[in-house]
Amino acid sequence: MEPIFCPYCGLKRLEELDPTEIMVDNDIWIIYHYECQECAEIFDKILLKDEGFIDDFNGEEDEKGFWS
Ligand SMILES: [Zn+2]
Repeated sequence: MEPIFCPYCGLKRLEELDPTEIMVDNDIWIIYHYECQECAEIFDKILLKDEGFIDDFNGEEDEKGFWS
């Protein structure tokens, strides 16, 4: 798995919490939850089985221009 960095402080001292699996449009999304040990922020990374990691929902919206 690629290294994951905290989006808040940029460090990678992360605790991986139990992942969540959801079904979206017949794809299985695995949502990994990370808790940063440096700044105590919690963030998610979403893994699509076929496409690999994408950023969280907000990040995807920010890149609308990319898809048009
Ligand atoms: Zn952090």
